[in-house]
Amino acid sequence: AQRLFDPLRQFADKFTAIQAGLTAIERINNLLSESVEIRDPEDHHRQYFSTQKTKVTGKIKFENVNFAYKQDEYVLKNLNFTIHPGEKIALVGPTGAGKSSVIRLLCRLYEPNKGRILVDGIDIRDLPQAELRRHIGVILQDGFIFAGDVKSNISLGETYSMDEIRIAAEKTNIASFIEKLPQGYDTELRERGTNLSSGQKQLLAFARVAIRNPKILVLDEATANLDVMTEALIQEALERLLENRTAIIIAHRLSTIRNVDKILVLKQGEIIEFGSHEELIERQGVYARLYQLQMLGS
Ligand code: ADP
Repeated sequence: AQRLFDPLRQFADKFTAIQAGLTAIERINNLLSESVEIRDPEDHHRQYFSTQKTKVTGKIKFENVNFAYKQDEYVLKNLNFTIHPGEKIALVGPTGAGKSSVIRLLCRLYEPNKGRILVDGIDIRDLPQAELRRHIGVILQDGFIFAGDVKSNISLGETYSMDEIRIAAEKTNIASFIEKLPQGYDTELRERGTNLSSGQKQLLAFARVAIRNPKILVLDEATANLDVMTEALIQEALERLLENRTAIIIAHRLSTIRNVDKILVLKQGEIIEFGSHEELIERQGVYARLYQLQMLGS
């Protein structure tokens, strides 16, 4: 009986299946330990944003971006798009289309072979990496946990007050859970997070980003099957986290895709469609076909 009432859920499930195997940002994480040689600009005289001097708005622009991991094997071709401050966009496309590569370039784990990426009008190559990373919050598919207590899992060793930590936890719907732990914020967590559910790990990852308050959010949406209650908590926390930030989401859920401002459809490294859900449906292209197919096929 369920299937009659829940076609959207089914589409979401199919969509998840299509993009299964993708753990984009986890791979990004692995990349952090790879030796990609990207140096800070030697000359910092050029203008760059600092939270004191200028207010970062979180505008992102890809200008003619071409990128190859290996000589002449271009995995991103001529990407041109702008994400305005506060806009949320979903990256959609089959595995291997280039979604994670877009994110890696934005985080400057790699650099384009041609073209450039601008954040607030500044070529990210002209920014010290620490500065760039400060403004981009990355959320992994399944929040990772460090061996250590809850508070340091949120602060990541930076100097935040207990109040700040608590506020971040409250904003992201994890505070009441933490308060119920035997030692509250001092409770030790195991490295693989085995004493936390996947939903709780997600929320903790949200808190970690909330406390840093970056203007740009990069999110590889979790595919884990969560119970209804946790799902609702996560959805609410996520909506709050997305407020007033620019976001790029590798989306696995139909509900998320429908809520974003624009959908960017990638295929073999090229943008084949870019627009709102309604626009793309009207256009009757790849996204619309995928959408209709899933609706019919369930
Ligand atoms: P998606 O996230 O959409 O699945 P990716 O950006 O991960 O796509 O991959 C795009 C293309 O780049 C694929 O053909 C993939 O095999 C290739 N690729 C990804 N990472 C690397 C790497 N580290 N070295 C070489 N090729 C890579």
